This record gives sequence, structure tokens and C-alpha cells, in this order.
Amino acid sequence: MPPYPSSFLKLVDELARLPGVGTKTAQRLAFHLLKGDPLRAKNLAQALQNLHQTTHSCRQCFNLAEAELCTLCADSDRDTSLLCVVEEPQDVSALERTGEFKGLYHLLLGSISPMNGIGPDDLKVKELLARLDPGSKVKEVILATNADVEGEATALYLARLLKPLGLKVTRLASGLPMGGDLEYSDEVTLARALQGRREV
Ligand SMILES: [Zn+2]
Repeated sequence: MPPYPSSFLKLVDELARLPGVGTKTAQRLAFHLLKGDPLRAKNLAQALQNLHQTTHSCRQCFNLAEAELCTLCADSDRDTSLLCVVEEPQDVSALERTGEFKGLYHLLLGSISPMNGIGPDDLKVKELLARLDPGSKVKEVILATNADVEGEATALYLARLLKPLGLKVTRLASGLPMGGDLEYSDEVTLARALQGRREV
């Protein structure tokens, strides 16, 4: 054990649990917080403390929200005839950065992955179908799952499920980096993939 006080080690230990952060990085971050302005550390602590109290899932699309509905679902200027299906909140953020999409989203909160024991029932698929009931205004569903094996399998599954409903079902054009997450695609590539979407 390094010769540090236990409260400092506790912080290092918690930071090291974060994805992509090893013990060395955790120590560096902890020292950074210790040496820096105490107010910064306090603000970080406050943000962490509030995180679970203030951030929820949107009742409709499962994006992050502070109220019952996220800011996008609550925005009456969005085009309710277009529904873009994505995996995670980061994907919404990536697509919003393009400024190209004016419809609404539906988040699956994952993708089908038999290897990891994740099937359709573990995703927000039932909730998607509920949003597409005969009374819905949705005319086109854009399948914008990632361009990796799981994302493609998920898109294929949803296409088969949604086509019989008589909706236009489209998939983002290829050109996204293979195996790449939407969130790591640049805006131009993503905007082009959206414009070039094809019916499936
Ligand atoms: Zn929402």
C-alpha cells in the first residue's frame, strides 16, 4: 500500500473503478484534485452527489432527463413523424451535433448480444412497439444502431419486427467506421449517413 492517508486512498480506489482508469491514473487525478482549487473538488463532489437524484430516464424515449420527459420529447418543434432508434444516450448526443435530424428518438439502452446473454427482452423494444401503435404519428423509423456486429443484428431484428406494421423502416447509410460507435463518428460522416439512409 502506498504511504498515503486512508481518505486519499479511498478516493484513488473509487476513481480506479471508473472505466479506462487504472490505479496510476486514479492517483494522478486524486493528486490533481488535492493540489487544485478546493472549490473545484467541492463542485465535483456536489455534481456526483446530485447525479442520481436529478438525472433519470425520459418516460417516453429513455434519454437522460431531469423531468418526466427529456428536453427533446418536450420540444413541440420536433418532427413527430420521424423516430430514430439508437442504443445509448451518447448516440443521441452525436446525432444532435450534426444538426441534421429534427425528429424524436427511442433509446434501446443496449444492443442484442447473444455472447453477453442480452436479448430483445433486455432492451426497450416493447416500449418501442408501444410508441408505434396505430394511433402514433410516426411514419418512418430510422435504425441508427452502431455499425458493429451487435448493432447490425439489432437493426436486422427490429427491421423484421417493424416492417409488418406498414412503416417506412430505414437504416443509416454505410460509411460509418466499421465496428465504430456512433458516438465516435464525426459530424460530417454522421450527417452523410443520415442523409443517405436507405429503406430496409
Ligand atoms: Zn425523451
